[in-house]
Amino acid sequence: MVKKPFVTKEKLEEIAAQIPTPFHIYDEKGLRENAKAVQEAFAWNPGFREYFAVKANPNPTLIKLLGEYGFGCDCSSETELMLSDAMGFHGDKIMFSSNVTPASEYALAEKLGAIINLDDFTHIDFLEKTLGYIPETISCRYNPGGLFSISNDIMDNPGDAKYGMTTEQLFDAFRILKEKGAKRFGIHAFLASNTVSNEYYPALAKVLFELAVKLEKETGAKITFINLSGGVGIPYRPDQEPNDIRVIGEGVHKVYDEILVPAGMGDVAIYTEMGRFMMGPYGGLVTRAIHEKHIYKEYIGCDACAVNLMRPAMYGAYHHITVMGKEDQPCDHKYDVTGSLCENNDKFAIDRMLPKIDLGDLLFIHDTGAHGFSMGYNYNGKLRSAEVLLKEDGSFELIRRAETPKDYFATLDGTPEYRKMFGGE
Ligand SMILES: *Cc1c(COP(=O)(O)O)cnc(C)c1O
Repeated sequence: MVKKPFVTKEKLEEIAAQIPTPFHIYDEKGLRENAKAVQEAFAWNPGFREYFAVKANPNPTLIKLLGEYGFGCDCSSETELMLSDAMGFHGDKIMFSSNVTPASEYALAEKLGAIINLDDFTHIDFLEKTLGYIPETISCRYNPGGLFSISNDIMDNPGDAKYGMTTEQLFDAFRILKEKGAKRFGIHAFLASNTVSNEYYPALAKVLFELAVKLEKETGAKITFINLSGGVGIPYRPDQEPNDIRVIGEGVHKVYDEILVPAGMGDVAIYTEMGRFMMGPYGGLVTRAIHEKHIYKEYIGCDACAVNLMRPAMYGAYHHITVMGKEDQPCDHKYDVTGSLCENNDKFAIDRMLPKIDLGDLLFIHDTGAHGFSMGYNYNGKLRSAEVLLKEDGSFELIRRAETPKDYFATLDGTPEYRKMFGGE
C-alpha cells in the first residue's frame, strides 16, 4: 500500500510559516472516523467501553475528542490521573492500570472513583493498607506466562513480562478480594504489543473468557467486565495490511457467544485500552531538512531529533517518511535521516531509499500519533515540539505550544543560574 500523508505540502508550508518546525500534526477527520468505527465494531456489547491509553498521547484536545464517542481514560500515573480528572473524566470513566504503584497514586485513583486494576497479588494488602478497605469494584491483571501464540505464530512473550498475576495467584486474589468486600470483578490482560493481525483480540478474548467462567464458578466472584487492554497494532510499513476493527469486533463477539453466553455470563462488559490503534496513524512529525552530509554514507540532517520521536532510536522501529512534494519522484537516493543529538542512534531512517532531498524540504514522518510526542525527553537539552490539530474543515489549531528554554530550566528556579538567565529575585 502507498502511504500518503493526510495533509498537503501547501498546507504544511502554511502552518510552518506560523508554527516553526518541527511539530507533530494530527488529523481530526481520521481520528473521528476511526473512533466511530471502534464504537460500531463493539456495539453488540452493551457495556463496551474503550479507555484510551493516556500514555500514548496525553494531549487534552485529542483525548476530549475521543471522549465524545463515550470513551474513557486508561491511566498509570499521578499526572495521567490528574489530566483525566481535569478533562472531565470521572468515576468508572477512568481505568487505573498501573504497575509498581506508589501508595499516593492508589489513593488519588480511589479519590477520583477510578476502577483500580491490580498488577500484582501483593498489591491486595498494599491497597488495603493504603485505603483502609478494598473497593467494591476491582480488577486484576493476568499473566498466563509462557509464549502467546496464534496458530504457531509467536505473538509475544508474557513469561518474560513484568506484568500481571499467575493463574494460581489470580484465583487466590479473587477469593481474598471477595472476602474483603469486593463485589464486582474485572480481568485484564495485555499479552502482545502492536499486533498487526485481526486474530489477537479474539484469541486473547478466548483465553480470558474461559478463565472468567472458571473463576466465577470456583470463587463465586461476580465478573462484570473483561478488559482486553491494548496491543492492537497499526501498519508502520507500507507492505503491512491494516487491522480491520470490524473483523476484530466480530471475532470477539463470536467467542463471547461461544463461551460466556452459554455460561450465563452474557452480561459481561468488554473493555479495551487501545492507544496505538486510536491515534497512531492520525499523527505525523513534520520536520525540515537543514543539512546534508557526504562522508562514508549520505546523511540528511533535520530539525527534529529522537527527543521528538524516540521509537526508531529506542526500538529500531520503522517509521515511513514522505518527502513532501516529491511523492511521485523515484526513490533513487539512499539516506540516513538523522537528528542532531550527540548519539549515533538518533536516526529516523537508516539506508532508506528516498527521492533526492534538497535543503529546506519538508519531511513527513508517518504514524507518530501514539507513543510519539509522549515518549519525548530532553536529552542534550533539546526541547519538546509543538502539536497541531488539522481540523475537519481544513483549518488548523495549535493544541500544545513548543517548549521554551524557560520551561526546560523551570525546575532550577531559585538558583542563581536561573535568575541570571530569566531575571527575578
Ligand atoms: C501501553 C498500554 C496500553 C496501550 O497500548 P497500545 O499498544 O498503545 O494499544 C494499554 N494498557 C496498558 C496497561 C498499557 O500499559
